[in-house]
Amino acid sequence: MTDTPVTPDRTAVLAALEAVTDPKTGQGLVSAGLVQGLVTAPGRAGFMIEAELGEAELYAPVRAAAEAALMTVPGVTRAQVVLTAERAPTAGPRTVRMSRNPQLSTEAKAQLSPPRAPPPSQKPAHVRQVVAVASGKGGVGKSTVAVNLACAFARLGYAVGLLDADVYGPSVPRLLGLDAEPVMGPDKKLIPLEAYGVKAISIGNIVPEGAPMIWRGPMASSAVSQLLNDVAWGGEAAPLDLLIIDMPPGTGDIQLTLAQKVAVDGAVIVSTPQEVALIDVRRGAAMFEKTATPILGVIENMAYFPDPATGAPIEIFGRGGARATAEALGAPFLGELPLDIELRAGSDAGRPPAAVDPTGDMAQRFLAMVEQIAARLETLAGDRPPPKIVVD
Ligand code: ADP
Repeated sequence: MTDTPVTPDRTAVLAALEAVTDPKTGQGLVSAGLVQGLVTAPGRAGFMIEAELGEAELYAPVRAAAEAALMTVPGVTRAQVVLTAERAPTAGPRTVRMSRNPQLSTEAKAQLSPPRAPPPSQKPAHVRQVVAVASGKGGVGKSTVAVNLACAFARLGYAVGLLDADVYGPSVPRLLGLDAEPVMGPDKKLIPLEAYGVKAISIGNIVPEGAPMIWRGPMASSAVSQLLNDVAWGGEAAPLDLLIIDMPPGTGDIQLTLAQKVAVDGAVIVSTPQEVALIDVRRGAAMFEKTATPILGVIENMAYFPDPATGAPIEIFGRGGARATAEALGAPFLGELPLDIELRAGSDAGRPPAAVDPTGDMAQRFLAMVEQIAARLETLAGDRPPPKIVVD
């Protein structure tokens, strides 16, 4: 008979890791902020060390020591520590990131040095503004909305990019009909693919398809940082006006890390009218509040189904909840999108209605949303040049 594996205690795991010294700061790994994306599962524990560029050698022994330390924790039979060395160097001492370790006991916290200001979030080179499209849960149409908003911005004359950071189901390549592999440019930066005037890169292009879920979380923020910084979004002469990030659904650690790491100018939240989805919207809004990211607005997707015979709205999931939630949050309500067969079919075929049917009802709805988002962004930025209007 084999023993059933038990999940190791996170406090014990953190204590073991705190006993390993960061060679740079002389602090324990937890205090030094080096324990990223800690995962505990029956029989297993693992996390990621994000070292700075060129420090892989320095941290290789730390990785080994951390794995050995994890193996001493009761319940751990497999320890896995991933080392990445791609983070931009920070100016000052490393930050203690208490929020990443919610399970840390009060005594353990007391032993750590006090939290300092969060690390400066970064904006990619030659990108003027960044907007995150988020949802509290999956399957509400977040990616579909992100793609169509990007196409609508492109029609307004914006130089727009779309970064698909949805680790759970990267779908932007399919939604835009892009199946080529991006190639490396002369400056060692990935050249984004392009469709309908939108430059796009997906996390699916760099995170291996079959990567085990346990590593997808911890890897995600590191991979997204890489995509932000190692992609030629724009140049000196032709900067990107707007980069839209299709966030992973939910409000967990991955999302919070992303929101902290990237200098997001504002977030658009997509929801269906259901109560369960709206509870998640409130959580999402709270997450963005934590990172001081303005909510640009809430979009209600799948708001109703127009009766095929009469056009009268059939309210499958109820209706109007997202508007009420937006009001309660003090965020603008950007509009509603009905369940629409063309939107579904066009999305599956890589033909977003906002780009291929610009006079259609769906495209008009997306345009109206984009105009409100643009106005809000302009107010926030203060000095943004007015968009060029494309007439064809
Ligand atoms: P998420 O990114 O939130 O997981 P997706 O954008 O992938 O969701 O959408 C999930 C599915 O719902 C897709 O098949 C998409 O085509 C479909 N869908 C999204 N919005 C609508 C809509 N308004 N009408 C019809 N189908 C929709």
